[in-house]
Amino acid sequence: MLQSFKVKTTRHTSIVNITSSVREIVSKSGVKDGVCVVYVPHTTACVFINEAADPDVVRDITYALEKIVPWNDPNYEHGEGNSAAHIRSAVIGNSRMVIIDNGELVLGTWEGIFLGEFDGPRERKVYVKILKGS
Ligand code: ZN
Repeated sequence: MLQSFKVKTTRHTSIVNITSSVREIVSKSGVKDGVCVVYVPHTTACVFINEAADPDVVRDITYALEKIVPWNDPNYEHGEGNSAAHIRSAVIGNSRMVIIDNGELVLGTWEGIFLGEFDGPRERKVYVKILKGS
C-alpha cells in the first residue's frame, strides 16, 4: 500500500529529519523483511540519508550546496527564478530505498533520512512504498 505524510518546512532552505515518520509507517505495516521507497514528488525538494547525530553536518551540507549551486547566477534561464532549487533537488535526488530487516529500517548508527527543501517554506508530501521481501 502506498502511504504518505506531510512535512511543513519553515525556511527558504530546510532540511528535516523524517526518519521517525518513515519508521512509524514501516512499523505499522507489520512488514518484517523488504524495502521501502521514500519519495518526494516536488521539483525543489530531495530525499537523502546522512548523519543525524550532529546537526552541524546538515548545516554544512546546506552551506556547501550554496557554494556548489549558488542561488544567484545571471546565466540561469528558468523564468520562475528558482533554478538553484531545481538543480539542488536534481543533484541529490528525490527518492531513496531503505532495507527493512526484522521489521526495522537498516540504517547506520548515526544515519537518518532527511527531506530537503530548497525553495520554501512549503508544505511537502512524502510517499512511502513498502515492498515485501520473500
Ligand atoms: Zn521553478
